[in-house]
Parts: sequence; C-alpha cells; structure tokens
Amino acid sequence: MQITRRLEFDAGHRIPDHKSQCRHLHGHRYAIEITLSGDVIVASGQPENGMVMDFSEVKAIAQRCVVANWDHAFLAYSGDTLVVAFLGSLPDHKTVLLDVVPTAENLAQLAFAMLDPAYQDVFGNHLRLERVRLYETPNCWADATRAKT
Ligand SMILES: [Zn+2]
Repeated sequence: MQITRRLEFDAGHRIPDHKSQCRHLHGHRYAIEITLSGDVIVASGQPENGMVMDFSEVKAIAQRCVVANWDHAFLAYSGDTLVVAFLGSLPDHKTVLLDVVPTAENLAQLAFAMLDPAYQDVFGNHLRLERVRLYETPNCWADATRAKT
C-alpha cells in the first residue's frame, strides 16, 4: 500500500546558468508530495489501526525535516558567489545554502535524503519512503525515487 501527503511552501531561488527566466532572482509556490509504502497496520484499538501512517504524522515529519527549513527562505547555490554575498549582506535573512543548483530535480533529491531517515518503521509494517515529488510550478515537477537516488 502507498500513501501520499502533500505540503506547500514558498521559497526563492535562481538558476545561475539558466538561459532564460530562471536566472533571475524569483520565487515559487512549491509543493512537495511524500509517498510512503508499507503494510496497513492491524492493531485493534490503536489510533493507527487501518493506516500505513497517520497523515498528520507524515506531515509533521516533513514539516520538521524540510518545510520549516525551506519555507520563506532563499535556496541558493553556494557556488553562486554574487548572490551568496548579496544575501549575506541582508540582516537575519533566511538563506539556505546548497551544494547544488536549486532545480526541482536537485531539491527533490535533497528532500528525499533529508526525509528518508526520518520515516522509521515504528510499527513493524515495513514503512519506508518511496518517492518525493517536488513541484516547482503546477505543471513542472521532479520525482526522486528510492530506485533512482
Ligand atoms: Zn524558478
């Protein structure tokens, strides 16, 4: 069985080498979808009975591990020296420095790596993270999957 929880957040970025619009400083309303697989828990009288994982717990982990860090932040490539210097000049600015350019593909892969250790198989139902889908716009997204990471 697979379950998916979606969260949204706002963040800025730029793709320094991009040949058109994305080289400018700008932001997106990102969405992240976390897909977990596992057996349906059979535990009469327990709150998790009939679930792979409580959706609110899926959300809480994603919020803590990724969304709280990235929401209303500027996601900057550490090699983008002019932008890093500029953001560093702004007092108390929420900047997240990345070792890779902040494309949807790279953000999906980073989020997968941040989330994978957080979803623990507490109930013995073989819970595991299968996929992180990262939407840069409603029409453009990237999938980081366990098989492809
Ligand atoms: Zn963009």
